[in-house]
Amino acid sequence: MPQELARQELGEVQESTPWTTAGGPDHSYDETVREERRRWLTEPRLTERFRLVDPHGAPIYDHMIRVLDLVWECPDDGTVNVVGYRCAGCGSSREVAALAARCRDGR
Ligand SMILES: [Zn+2]
Repeated sequence: MPQELARQELGEVQESTPWTTAGGPDHSYDETVREERRRWLTEPRLTERFRLVDPHGAPIYDHMIRVLDLVWECPDDGTVNVVGYRCAGCGSSREVAALAARCRDGR
């Protein structure tokens, strides 16, 4: 995806990708984790990191950021949040959202 990479380098990531940090920090994660995930999401070496985990996978941005566990998708509202942040859609932490989904689906 050369076009997406070009956009990342121009710093226009918010336009081309749906992830958000608007839910605010999830305090079960370290600030260092939040910083790292935010940095990885926008750095040009993302594809290199992805290749270390999945040498043969398609280097599609939305796929890579999930494989590298940089974002989590809220099971309730589908909001894509940066790991270390609460859901911007419903305010749940990742852990609570996952637990709630497991309880609901287990019925
Ligand atoms: Zn949510």
